[in-house]
Amino acid sequence: MKIGVPKEIKNNESRVGLTPAGAFELVNYGHEVYIQETAGESSGFADIDYREVGAVMLPTIEAVYAMADMIVKVKEPIASEYPLVKRNQIVFTYFHFASSEALTRAMIKSGAICIAYETVQDDEGTLPLLTPMSEVAGRMAIQQGAKHLEKPIKGRGVLLGGVPGVPPGRVLILGAGVVGVQAAKMAAGLGAHVTVLDINMKRLRYVNDVMPPHVVTEFSSVYNIKKHIKTHDLIIGAVLIPGAKAPNLITREMLKDMRAGTVLVDVAVDQGGCFETTRPTTHEDPTYIIHDIVHYCVANMPGAVPYTSTLALTNVTLPYILKLANLGWEAACSKYPDLGRGLNIVKGEVVIDEIKETFDGAL
Ligand code: NAD
Repeated sequence: MKIGVPKEIKNNESRVGLTPAGAFELVNYGHEVYIQETAGESSGFADIDYREVGAVMLPTIEAVYAMADMIVKVKEPIASEYPLVKRNQIVFTYFHFASSEALTRAMIKSGAICIAYETVQDDEGTLPLLTPMSEVAGRMAIQQGAKHLEKPIKGRGVLLGGVPGVPPGRVLILGAGVVGVQAAKMAAGLGAHVTVLDINMKRLRYVNDVMPPHVVTEFSSVYNIKKHIKTHDLIIGAVLIPGAKAPNLITREMLKDMRAGTVLVDVAVDQGGCFETTRPTTHEDPTYIIHDIVHYCVANMPGAVPYTSTLALTNVTLPYILKLANLGWEAACSKYPDLGRGLNIVKGEVVIDEIKETFDGAL
């Protein structure tokens, strides 16, 4: 099969869909790999690294789309790419169709086979191609939160780890899923006092089993959240209700109960956020302040660490890319149901209920 990897052109996206290691595997299986020049540069991979493993570098995005039977990338195609997607071409990437009717219409029109990373789902219901990005975001949440607690950028002026003779900072984590556990691990590693809230007792039991004693768990209730926001320096929003907007666990009114300079990091911003005052921000301008409370709400946190994020993502996508390339999409998707659940739009037809329901017959 001919596999094409365009350079990401979405604003601030520095990841790439395939590493030289991935290109090496595909070439070894007898496939042809076409990479757009400089596509890997921001993730630390030079054109020569791809050439050395047998990939062919192409100068333009048009050439990559024109050549490929399968496009492998990171983010959804943006408007300038819509006309480049060909009938019967496999496009394997994050799509998040429900958030864009224009993208959905364009991919229906293209006649391509759109397989979305975010709906590939194993038999246990986990989403293996989303997990690594949650791992990155969870760890980053503490790094960013710790930074924004510094006084010159309007934080409380608290060092999370404390020092001998001074108690450590306090971190409250709402949600003990992938993001929450990774955040707890980082905060605990810095020496902070950590409180983790969830409504799922299984998750709280897991956190209690694996974390050190300065990570404490409590059931997530309005009462407990109201109690803890008064005494914690850094609050991480890490909740997810699959398929729904995140619940507003901290209202605008509740900000007044917090101490000035408290930092809120809403990782769940991509699902609407779990604080009433959340609005999406960018890496260029990541924070804003309401009632003296610092809000960090960057919607694509992994984009800031493309080297780590590209490796983390391609570790999990490559096995699926190989299945698609070796078997073709029809055989691969029927043999591997987890991959089959990634099919969203096939040759002009929406094949997943969530998209149909979102646009309520408007397509
Ligand atoms: P997850 O499903 O692993 O965990 C979510 C947890 O929230 C679950 O344990 C669930 O029980 C818990 N929860 C639900 N309602 C709750 C409540 N009322 N109180 C406390 N806990 C509650 O999800 P995840 O992979 O950890 O992702 C969390 C969020 O982070 C998602 O919205 C995801 O899209 C987002 N995310 C954002 C970025 C970014 O760059 N901003 C990157 C990756 C993930």
